[in-house]
Amino acid sequence: MAPVTFALHHVHKTYNSGAIALQDMTLQVPTGQFVSLVGPSGCGKSTVLRLLAGLEQPSQGQIDRPSIEAGFSLAYVFQEPALLPWATVTENVALPLKLAGQSPRQRQTAVADILAKVGLTEFGRAYPRELSGGMKMRVSIARALVTQPQVLLMDEPFGALDEITRSQLNEELLDLWQRQQWTVVFVTHNLYEAVYLSSRVVVMASKPGRSIADLPIDLPYPRHPDLRTSPQCNRYCREIAHLLHPGSWNIASGA
Ligand code: ADP
Repeated sequence: MAPVTFALHHVHKTYNSGAIALQDMTLQVPTGQFVSLVGPSGCGKSTVLRLLAGLEQPSQGQIDRPSIEAGFSLAYVFQEPALLPWATVTENVALPLKLAGQSPRQRQTAVADILAKVGLTEFGRAYPRELSGGMKMRVSIARALVTQPQVLLMDEPFGALDEITRSQLNEELLDLWQRQQWTVVFVTHNLYEAVYLSSRVVVMASKPGRSIADLPIDLPYPRHPDLRTSPQCNRYCREIAHLLHPGSWNIASGA
């Protein structure tokens, strides 16, 4: 079995407001896996990501995480690309390296490399206002990847994009993941996206936030877009939909 990058053991998280975000959440993320968290709003998906990143502490339970002192690195991608409007694409992507004290020469090589990987070489001098939503998201992903993280935490990164752009970025992300072999924890509302991308889907429920299923997606990589409408993919999507909406499926089927 692959070594585990992260593990949550019986984690509870209650915010100061009294909101119980997670109750008894146990989750293992093996190194190199693409794991998606799916569930309704408020079921604690973002809280899991923040706990994994060390941005929040659990109220109870234990979290195993590799130490940053030992050279471990992670990057976070959010739904909003949050680019600096006054900076070019190159400057936006170079920002984490600049903050880490890298020289302009080191930055130039790393940024050119990552812009090529996300297909933005031609747009290095463009400003965010000149880019489409999909291109802005590519810049945001490039800015996360430029630091060469071992783990990528992605919080609904494609949620604000149209379906065609979302599918295109899904393909690009899978292609990069297969070449780079990071560990990815991906939050989405979209169970079709989760099944298509992931080696494993963790299904969550709310009130209180918890995991209700942990499904390996036994479909080989590389995944071809035709797989999206295949019977195998549909079977996984149906299974997850049943888990997410058990009552409504009984009504629809007349059971
Ligand atoms: P999801 O990502 O699945 O939408 P969240 O992790 O954002 O869920 O939120 C889980 C629950 O915790 C929700 O009830 C939310 O209102 C609450 N919550 C999230 N962040 C905070 C916070 N910083 N302070 C107080 N309550 C929060």
